[in-house]
Amino acid sequence: MLDFVDRAIAPYPTGNGHPAFFAWINSPPSPAGVIAELLAAAVNATCGMGEHALMDLERGVVRDLAALAGMAPTTGGVLTSGGSMANLLCLGAARTWFLRQRGATDGPAYDQAHARLTAYHSDQAHMSVAKAAAVIGLPPWRLRAVPTTADRRMDVDALRAMVDADHAAGLLPFCVVSNLGSTATGAVDPIEAITGVCRRAGLWHHADGAWGGLGALVPELAPLYRGVDGLDSLTVDPHKTLSVPVGCGAALVTDPSRLRDAFTFRASYLDGDQDWPWMSDYTVELTRPGTRALTLWATLRHLGRSGVADLLQHYQDLARYLRRRVREHPALELCTDGPLPVVCFRLAAGYDTGRPDSQADLHTALASHVQARGRAYLATVRHDGETVLRACVCNYLTTTDDVDTLLQEVQTAADHLW
Ligand SMILES: *Cc1c(COP(=O)(O)O)cnc(C)c1O
Repeated sequence: MLDFVDRAIAPYPTGNGHPAFFAWINSPPSPAGVIAELLAAAVNATCGMGEHALMDLERGVVRDLAALAGMAPTTGGVLTSGGSMANLLCLGAARTWFLRQRGATDGPAYDQAHARLTAYHSDQAHMSVAKAAAVIGLPPWRLRAVPTTADRRMDVDALRAMVDADHAAGLLPFCVVSNLGSTATGAVDPIEAITGVCRRAGLWHHADGAWGGLGALVPELAPLYRGVDGLDSLTVDPHKTLSVPVGCGAALVTDPSRLRDAFTFRASYLDGDQDWPWMSDYTVELTRPGTRALTLWATLRHLGRSGVADLLQHYQDLARYLRRRVREHPALELCTDGPLPVVCFRLAAGYDTGRPDSQADLHTALASHVQARGRAYLATVRHDGETVLRACVCNYLTTTDDVDTLLQEVQTAADHLW
């Protein structure tokens, strides 16, 4: 097995874990997490029903995670396979919560109400939100993309107007999904203002913090995270910024009984202590791994609260360094300026003329060339109608030398392409 993995698997990881890998939001696994994964796999607890110490551990680390994020002390929830699943669980819980309030959980009342549900996210939302909406039976036309302001944050006035217009049209707005760190540019939506709209109109406020959900721990970001304790739910993805081995996400819900309302189902062949809350009552999974709880616990124990804050600050510092290098570079131009550690940039005007190809082709070709040379890796993203370069810092091993390597590689690729 070692020979096989050494020869056929380990050399082909799409670069994840390499310190000069700047694409998407992938991190290397924490050493503590790798050992914990092996141990928990050997214990092999099924963390869905009954009692098991790893379920107690899960409840504990979920509370730890919620406390790190700055959520209300009542918060509970479950660990998931990742952010997509956490978004799905929270949207499902929001839907049930809303329909229960209207006495519309079954029968014609359900059909009538369900056919009028509308939800809102910004035009920068991760595609997993649309996927979750599709799974809970919300068609695309009733999932509204709220425009963003120049800083790519949700335009709250536009949100308010869209909710009011939908109410006036007889529709039933039930949920807003905000971004705590948009995938494309790292924008953090105005949390308190969005909660204000939700409270006024009876909507659930779910925040997608798969990437940036723990930003409150970073002093320079903390002001943007005021109001996290007023959210109804939050997605956090420990397998991103915390380097917990894939896959470990979390659905954190301020009133966890709302998850139980949505996901508690019983069967005679699973008779047991009905008073004891099974973890499967909080999610769509029954047989669930204990690996998530132990890997997260081990990683948090290893880092400690200050270690988590330092790690997130490390990403911020490197992104700031990259932005400075891009600004100083005569051939490059910065497209966005934070706040989260992703840097979108392009070839400066004057360096991209005289080429017959479109901009899109230019930056795609440039990224491909960097990727193919194999010394650094970055991605592309659509930005103001143009495809530009995108470099995200999410690796505890990355240093300023790796950032320098990336820029050298971009320069080399640009020279080659001209
Ligand atoms: C990565 C990401 C997701 C999806 O999380 P997975 O763990 O890949 O399922 C959702 N939302 C945002 C903002 C993300 O960055």
